[in-house]
Amino acid sequence: MILGLLGGGQLAQMLALAGHPLGIDTLFIDPAADACAARVAHHLHGRFDDPALLQQLAERADVVSYEFESVPTTGIEWLASQIPVYPPPQALASGRDRLHEKQLFGKLGIPTAEYRAVNDLEQLLGAVSELGLPALLKSRREGYDGKGQYLLRPGASAAEAWQAVGGVEAILERLVPFQRELSIIAVRSREGEIRCYPLSENQHRNGILHLSIRRPDDPLQGQAEVLVSGLLQHLDYVGVIALELFAQEGRLLANEFAPRVHNSGHWTMEGALCSQFENHLRAIFGLPLGATQGSDEVAMVNFIGHPPASADLLAIPGLHLHLYGKEPRSGRKVGHATVRGDTLTTLQQRIDAVTALLAEG
Ligand code: AMP
Repeated sequence: MILGLLGGGQLAQMLALAGHPLGIDTLFIDPAADACAARVAHHLHGRFDDPALLQQLAERADVVSYEFESVPTTGIEWLASQIPVYPPPQALASGRDRLHEKQLFGKLGIPTAEYRAVNDLEQLLGAVSELGLPALLKSRREGYDGKGQYLLRPGASAAEAWQAVGGVEAILERLVPFQRELSIIAVRSREGEIRCYPLSENQHRNGILHLSIRRPDDPLQGQAEVLVSGLLQHLDYVGVIALELFAQEGRLLANEFAPRVHNSGHWTMEGALCSQFENHLRAIFGLPLGATQGSDEVAMVNFIGHPPASADLLAIPGLHLHLYGKEPRSGRKVGHATVRGDTLTTLQQRIDAVTALLAEG
């Protein structure tokens, strides 16, 4: 079996690794000569819309998937006319534009922060007077990890905010005074079976995910499963999805979804019987889904910029190291650790040990 992928970053690398024991080989297109998935999969080097490379992928792969949202529409649509592409391209179309995403949530009865579409400074001024401040101005497209966003505090200049997001089509969103940030990773098979992982509780640093902790038995699990299941069914989805949520006074508001395996689900590699990567492959290849439960307490800590020394990390009991083979660079995700413990106290001590190493570096 051959998996064709658009994108050769760490998500592609981890998908390829998960496919190996299942007899699935991976072939991917990526324009970066040093794409990290090339360590474990076959690299078709070039642009995502290169017709010759897309042709090769269509001829050699059994199924095509992708590891990021901004894949060129023409390429993915042509591939979908040749071979199965999962998740379905309509999921990409709804997820890559914040306004369309919010409208889809609204249509499905999934609550979100209150927002307004803004296409120019005048509309921004109108939205500010309607929603009040603080609020977040977010560009509709190409935004992730807090990029393309501007926080308007009370008294802030709307013109400055408009300039900061590049004067492009955007949405203004009321700032949610959330208690916790959560995400739910779920998978849907070709037959429509849905399985959900326990909620991840997420902490960010400088807009980038820093820590995800598995929260089994969370009182909001049922609510999150209802929301993500509605989305999966509506999109006739196949594969893994991540839905990012804010928890505010016992209620969930959706922030955004990612139609792919997700950083906040990396703990599933050692913290669930079947990881998000394996379940994505099982779903898209039409295989039975795997169990999403696990026994130990588990968390994931990201390495941004530069990872601590491997010997120091591996001296921490219950730690599993994942390095992506990427050149260290400020703000770049270069690896992560899964940390396990038999109690939450032990887990927290081990997370603290990793965080202390990050602080030293
Ligand atoms: P995003 O790029 O939409 O994932 O946003 C990045 C981060 O900004 C989120 O993980 C939140 O921490 C924060 N954020 C985004 N939207 C809101 C909001 N409406 N209210 C409060 N915080 C937000």
